[in-house]
Amino acid sequence: MNIIQIKNLTKTYENGTKALAGISLDIQQGDFFAFLGQNGAGKTTTISILTGLVKKTSGTICINTIDFDENPSLAKSMIGVVPQEFNFFPFAKVIDIIIDQAGYYGMPESIALPRAQMLLKQLNLWEKRNDEARSLSGGMKRRLMIARGLIHDPKILLLDEPTAGVDVELRKGMWEFLKLLNQQGLTIILTTHYLEEVEQLCKNLAIVSKGKIVKQGSVEEIISEHQHSTFLALTDLPEKIQEIHVSPGKTLMQVIDEMPHIKPHIISITPKENALEEVFLTA
Ligand code: ADP
Repeated sequence: MNIIQIKNLTKTYENGTKALAGISLDIQQGDFFAFLGQNGAGKTTTISILTGLVKKTSGTICINTIDFDENPSLAKSMIGVVPQEFNFFPFAKVIDIIIDQAGYYGMPESIALPRAQMLLKQLNLWEKRNDEARSLSGGMKRRLMIARGLIHDPKILLLDEPTAGVDVELRKGMWEFLKLLNQQGLTIILTTHYLEEVEQLCKNLAIVSKGKIVKQGSVEEIISEHQHSTFLALTDLPEKIQEIHVSPGKTLMQVIDEMPHIKPHIISITPKENALEEVFLTA
């Protein structure tokens, strides 16, 4: 089942900027989906439309079979958002930030409190529950944002650059937690600049460029299509570094065999780029 169906979504801002030029996207229930693109491609605009911060110009959106135009508040309640910037009140207590959010969705405190307690424990914030948010470390603040995004029990979690500025150790911990949530059935959509994150976590991806989807498919397939298609060979020739392109369907050895002028001079070979990086940069 497609939990998100977007058809021909367009957005032209008031100043005339055409941010989305007709995006169509189906995201399956239970997916771990990467939404990629260079700065200015249209990612934030798409996410902001889904969360109701920005009004679309045209197109249709269905979330968990609910038409966004017919029942926007119900459609929006299916989504939990973790924005990139910390946007909680720094002097508020950690637990209050989570409980207050539940109130926006009309969740009674009798349900919100045990849920908040469970999330605080799961996200290793239990000890900090009565502290002011400003006293948390960067990684803890990020986890607080995730707890807050999950309080109303959404079916979809949207994360905008969840590990930007998070150190390696914490990033791995965050990945484990997100994987667990996904295994429990939560559909997760993230934007990121760390392609390793996409390889480690995501099942499917879409790349947006200039307001259009330019590539979409399974992460595994896209990686195998582009697996090490460009290599750098170190040689003892005057031009020490030689670039070797391997077209799909050929092996590196076949290509080298067709280069008798270089083959005997090769000292070592390394892949030029990680496969996803190449897809991303050429999209
Ligand atoms: P991304 O998140 O991929 O970096 P955005 O969705 O933020 O891309 O931006 C897409 C395009 O829309 C860019 O050209 C950007 O300058 C423009 N844009 C974004 N927000 C606004 C706005 N509020 N008003 C006018 N133009 C905007």
